[in-house]
Amino acid sequence: MAASGLYVITGPMFAGKTTELLRILNKYRIAGYRTLLVKPSIDERYSSREVVSHDGIRMEALVIEPTLSDLVRVSEVLHSHDVIGFDEFQFFEYNRGLVDFILELSDERTTYVASLNLDFRGEPWEIVKELLPYADEIQTLYAVCTYVDPETGRKCGKPASRTQRLIDGKPAPYESPRILVGGKESYEARCRKHHFIIK
Ligand code: ADP
Ligand code: MG
Repeated sequence: MAASGLYVITGPMFAGKTTELLRILNKYRIAGYRTLLVKPSIDERYSSREVVSHDGIRMEALVIEPTLSDLVRVSEVLHSHDVIGFDEFQFFEYNRGLVDFILELSDERTTYVASLNLDFRGEPWEIVKELLPYADEIQTLYAVCTYVDPETGRKCGKPASRTQRLIDGKPAPYESPRILVGGKESYEARCRKHHFIIK
């Protein structure tokens, strides 16, 4: 069995979280471990039973409801694998029992969690905030800030830690819904300075 523990991969959109998660699961799979990718059903991007990175790398996934009760339902399946990777973990409900479930799983199995650090408003996801301090290891990934200076026409290019939501190319208002599944048409990676929220 692979070493147990909780390993969190975090950062904004386009940072390479999914790519990293797939790379790790693939590595263990090739080494002969039983690996399982899990994703919440809310993320219907690209494909419903596969996880697809922004680079188009794909892997079959177990799709579950983002709730504690559905985790309990698939508990046996989870425990029949050595390495379990959760993608888009921020979409799981905020529930202390769910955190305890992940902690118990990671006591016995190698558990990877890939998650956004912040929502489009720059605020943390409660479930991520609750789980993060328990991680044996946290890997923070950065994208590249694609903000274009309107005067010079030049791209910022600094490490991006934030996710900018855009509506018709403009920063989304604070009140717009927290979850809006989308890709490049609705989101851009931005550094702190170039992350805007319209209040
Ligand atoms: P995440 O799961 O963190 O959203 P993915 O692993 O799905 O990220 O995709 C990462 C890929 O996104 C990069 O390898 C790159 O090809 C692409 N990408 C698109 N926009 C950016 C950006 N602004 N900065 C870095 N990578 C980007
Ligand atoms: Mg991803």
